[in-house]
Formats: sequence, C-alpha cells, structure tokens
Amino acid sequence: MTKFSDLALDPRVLQAVADTGYETPTPIQAQAIPYALQGRDVLGIAQTGTGKTASFSLPMITLLGQGRARARMPRSLVLCPTRELAAQVAENFDTYAKYTKLTKALLIGGVAFGEQDKLIDRGVDVLIATPGRLLDHFERGKLLLTGVQIMVVDEADRMLDMGFIPDIERIFSLTPFTRQTFFFSATMAPEIERITNTFLSNPAKIEVARQNSTSDTIEQALIQITPSRKDRSFADKRAVLRALIRQEGEACTNAIIFCNRKMDVDVVAKSLKSHGFNAAPIHGDLDQSQRMKTLDGFRDGSLHLLVASDVAARGLDIPAVSHVFNFDVPSHPEDYVHRIGRTGRAGRKGKAYTIATPFDEKYLTNIENLVKQPIPRGTLPEGFTLPEPGPKREDSRGPKGKGGKPDRREDRKPTRDREVAEVAPVQAVVEAPKREERKEDRRDDRRSPEQGHVHHHGTGGHSHHHRDEPRSDRRDGDRRDYRNRNDRDDRVVGMGDHVPDFILRSFKLPDPTPEEPELEAPEVQTADAE
Ligand code: AMP
Repeated sequence: MTKFSDLALDPRVLQAVADTGYETPTPIQAQAIPYALQGRDVLGIAQTGTGKTASFSLPMITLLGQGRARARMPRSLVLCPTRELAAQVAENFDTYAKYTKLTKALLIGGVAFGEQDKLIDRGVDVLIATPGRLLDHFERGKLLLTGVQIMVVDEADRMLDMGFIPDIERIFSLTPFTRQTFFFSATMAPEIERITNTFLSNPAKIEVARQNSTSDTIEQALIQITPSRKDRSFADKRAVLRALIRQEGEACTNAIIFCNRKMDVDVVAKSLKSHGFNAAPIHGDLDQSQRMKTLDGFRDGSLHLLVASDVAARGLDIPAVSHVFNFDVPSHPEDYVHRIGRTGRAGRKGKAYTIATPFDEKYLTNIENLVKQPIPRGTLPEGFTLPEPGPKREDSRGPKGKGGKPDRREDRKPTRDREVAEVAPVQAVVEAPKREERKEDRRDDRRSPEQGHVHHHGTGGHSHHHRDEPRSDRRDGDRRDYRNRNDRDDRVVGMGDHVPDFILRSFKLPDPTPEEPELEAPEVQTADAE
C-alpha cells in the first residue's frame, strides 16, 4: 500500500500531513499526486469525501515551494462553485502549507473587496475563488491571470449546475496555456467532457469509485407514515422527526436533517427550536457570515442539529455525523446517497432515517433502483402515534392541542413560534407540487450565491454580464402585499424574497374579519407553533 512518504512530496508538506493524523493516502491521492508532481494535467472523477482536496493541494504546495509571488499575479488558482467550498479549500491549504511560507487569498462574495484587494496587491501564491468574484476582480483591473502556473477546477459538475461554465471557459482563456490544470468532477456530463477536451492537455484520468452504493457502516431505516390528512403531512413529519431524535437520545451526537426545499429548511429548523432542540438552518439565502457561523457551530459541536438543503450541504466537509434524517425523500435518487453518506464515514457507525409518505412512492422506487436494494423498513418510535384524522379545525392543533378548541390568534405563542406559523400555511396548501414545480424550486436553489446573479446554461457566450446587476428577483415585481386587503385575493406573501413561482399562484384565503386579521391563516400554522 502506498504511504505518503512514498510520494515525492515536500518534507514540510509530509510533516503537515503527519500532523493531521492521516495514515495512508486515499486512492485518489495515491493515484493523482505522482502525475501532478510530474507536471501532468489531472482529470479526477471523484466526489467529496474521497480526499480529492488534498490530492491537488499537496502537490500544489510542493510545486509552488520554489519561486515567489508577484504583485497582482497569483501563481496558482483554485476555482470552487460556492463560497463554503472555497473557504473549506482555503482551510485545507492553511493546514497543509503551515510549514511553508506560501501565501494565499480567498476571493468570495460576501467579503469586502478592500481586504481582498490588499492581499492580491501584495502577491499571492494561491488564490482560491468562486468564478463570479474572480472575474469581478479581474474586470476591476485588480488582478492579472497571466502568472497562473497551476489552475484547479473543483466540483465542475456543480459549476455546470450553477451555470458557471461560461465563466470557467473565460477564466481558462485568461490564463497561460502552458499552465498545469487539475480538474475535478463527480460526473462527466457531455458539457464537462467538452471543456476537458478543450482545456486540458493529455490529462492523467483518475476515476475513483462512484458512491452509488451505500456504505455498510450506515444503518438505514425508512419510516413510512400516512398523514392523518394530506394537509397535515408537513406537521406530522415534524412530529415524527422530533420523536425519532428523542428516541435516539444521546446516541445522536449530531445530525443533519435534509429537506428538499429551502423554505422548509427554515420552517423545520424553527419548529425544532421551538420544541427546545438545538437546531439551525443552512441554505443559499442566508448571508455568508450566518452560514459560516452555523457551520462553525456545527463543526465545533455547539450546534446539535443542522437543517439543510441538498445544495447548501453538498460538498461541505462536516466530519463525523452520527445521524442523518431525511425529512423529505429526495426527489433525485443520487441525493439520497450523498445525504446518508454524511454519516458512517471512515468506518464509524452511522444511522440514516428517511421519513416518507405515500406521495413519495415514486422517489423511493428510484432510490431503491439506484442503490440496488430496498431501504430497510423501520418502525415509529415506541408509544408514538400520529393524531387520528378528524375534522379539519379541531385536528389541526395536533397531539398537544388544547382540547380541540378552535385556533384563536391570542392562543398562539408569540414571537418565535409565530414566525414559524407565519411561514407555514403555504406548505399546507402546496403539499405536493408537481414535478416541474419542484424542479423550478431546485433551480432557484442552485442560483449562484455570488452577488445573486443568475447564469444560464449553454449560452455559449459569456454570462458574466449579469454579474454587476443587483440581485433581481423577477417575482418581487409580481408580489403583492396581502396585508393590503384590497389586493389580497391572489397572492401569498411573507415568504422572504425567494418565493418559487408555484407558490405565488392564486389560492383563496378566508375572508378577513375585524377580529381575525389576515395573518390568521389556515390551521396548520398552529401545529407549527407547537
Ligand atoms: P475531500 O474529499 O477533500 O473533501 O476530503 C474529505 C475528508 O477526508 C476531509 O475531512 C479530509 O480531511 C479527509 N482526508 C483527506 N485525506 C485523507 C487521508 N489520506 N486519510 C484520512 N482522511 C483524509
């Protein structure tokens, strides 16, 4: 078996690796590093979790060991699709380059230009950036890419998802063609293949096993429920989630709870918090500092439950999670594998629960076809029962309802719980959006977190002309305030700026009365608040 010391890495890099406690190189490291050190281009077909970051950063640090950075001319460039990934790669560089004098800068949205400019002005060896932000700096004349000797494209398939490919092509064309390129992607979509054929020169192609199978160290359980009523399914699932977390008790040292839609991420996190759980959401609409704070808290153990969307969580390196809860069955089967792969890592045991309703049948079949085995059926926690179906009004208060009294605004708990309540009714109405609608929501989620601009696939040209536009949400123009009674017949508001189109379709709210103002929305909200 290859050892790190067998790879011709700089002794300072080997020392830093030894400090991390890694014993042996992972397959992608063992295969990629020798080619990288020979100066070859590398095409790595590998996912997060395979050790791919070290597979490019260790040889980069070794190769950059000689030579000095010149002002505004970074010697190497690492492009990542999201800010979090870029920040994560930067952390990896700090770890592996700690015994060297190499300098690095991180260029990501949400950070003031001034500081970044200063670093670049001084000259950096390694520049880690998201594509949009990098081109912003370039266009402001603050950066020259003609000194780039090594360029890395990380998670190219996500770049494609997010519409960054034209930016990547442009950046490639701004760097010297003599550069060495490391290119990583989990899949080889035709568009990715085209880019690699155009910009890589005789690359060493290294493919590490795709994880379309689930690890033996993960104990899976599918918890199937039939909601007491269709409009209760969201509330019932939250009750099941709480019961499962409680049942796991101390064995659940930390967990990620996955929702399919980012607005549900918020509601589930708030609902858990209101039930005394230590939970926080992470999704693309939260500002950068908030996301970083949440992730740091989750990493250092001060946050117990991370509620996440797939897009926010993909690629994030969060070590040793004891549990994964799929609050929703993912609509893309590969997401199931990615999600549950967050636990049971590095030989540790992990548990993955998936909560499903009869509406998820199709998605479950797709998942089971992909992983080529049934997900073991689990049972509801002992003593837990879903509320019996009953007349709408009474039942809506859920198991903790106050004797089935009609829901009155003044009964509700104030502040935090109300926040949940005010978001919830939409979910109650739109329980199972059609497939196209779900896609639309996902597309929204995949919008670049960079300055909010939207890039389009396959334009062939440069989409960066959108970059300087302020975050424009065409729906803002459409949206109406339903607090304005003259105008409240056809729109739902109170959802923040990122309301998927389908939610904005007309549905009737009950007529307002002077006693029950318009925020007194359908009954599910009270269950949320409980
Ligand atoms: P990556 O695929 O680069 O996101 O890495 C996934 C995780 O594996 C990170 O937590 C790394 O710190 C860890 N890792 C990378 N290389 C090794 C190694 N050779 N042995 C053990 N863990 C590693």
